[in-house]
Amino acid sequence: MRIDRRGSRDGLSLSAGRGNLPPHPTVKFTPKHPRMTSLPVTTEPTLRVNEVFHSIQGESTWAGVPMVFVRLTGCPLRCHYCDTSYAFREGTTMPIAALLERVRAFGCPTVEFTGGEPLAQRNAFLAMATLCDEGFTVLVETSGSIDIRPCHPAVIRILDVKTPGSGEVDRNRWDNLTDLRPRDEVKFVITDRADYEWARELLLRERLHERCNAVLFSAAHRQAGDADIQGCEGLSHRSLAEWILADRLPVRQQGQLHKVIWDPSTRGV
Ligand code: SF4
Repeated sequence: MRIDRRGSRDGLSLSAGRGNLPPHPTVKFTPKHPRMTSLPVTTEPTLRVNEVFHSIQGESTWAGVPMVFVRLTGCPLRCHYCDTSYAFREGTTMPIAALLERVRAFGCPTVEFTGGEPLAQRNAFLAMATLCDEGFTVLVETSGSIDIRPCHPAVIRILDVKTPGSGEVDRNRWDNLTDLRPRDEVKFVITDRADYEWARELLLRERLHERCNAVLFSAAHRQAGDADIQGCEGLSHRSLAEWILADRLPVRQQGQLHKVIWDPSTRGV
C-alpha cells in the first residue's frame, strides 16, 4: 500500500466518506518506530535489475565487442534451453537514475539490455531512450513476445523467434517482424532438425535476411532442467553448419563467445 504525505492512500483520501461528521478530537501521536516518521514518497521510475556488468559480447554480429550489460529481472517465457533462469526472480529494484549512473561509470559507449525479457518492464524503454539520447549505442535482446515498436529509433533490436523446440513457439508476436529495421537482427535458437526446417521455411518465405542486418542461427546448447525449465539435449554446431551449407542459406551461424572465454556457468560475463 502506498501512502503519500497528505495522508492519501493510493490516491484516495483517508478522510473520504466522513460526510458532515464532526472532526475527531486532536490526539497526539508519538511514533514508536523512527521509520514511521519518514514514509518514502516516490514516483521515480524504477527497474528490477538482476545484474549490471562489463564484458565481451558473445553473440550476434556484435560478438567480440566490449559492452555493458544490463540484465533485467523476469521473463514471461520458459524456453526449454534457457541459461538465465536465475534472472526469472532474482533482482533489486533500482531507480532508473541510479542504474544509468552505474552504466555511465563503466566508461563504455555500448550497452545491451538483456534478461530475462527486458521489455517486460515498461520502464526499460525509458532507460534505453535516455542512453540513446546521450549518445550511447544501445542494443536489446528480446524474446520476440513483446511489442518492440516503443523502442527508441536508435535502439538495435536483436529479436528472437521462438522455434517449436523452445516450447514457446505460441508466444511469438509475429507483428514484430513487420517492424524490422536495417540495423536489427533476428535470432533463431535451433534445437533439432525439425526446428531447422521450420526456421528455414520462415526465413525464406518472409525473406527475413533482406529486412534486417543479419539472421542468426544458433545451435541450442545442452541445458539441464530445473524447477522452471524442462532442459534441452542440445544440437551440435557441426550439424547446424552442414545443414546451412547444404541449403545455401543466407544466414549467419553463431556461437556464444563468452562461454568460450569464461566457464559456461560463470555469471556476470
Ligand atoms: S525468452 Fe526464453 S531464453 Fe530468454 S530469458 Fe526468457 S525463458 Fe530464457
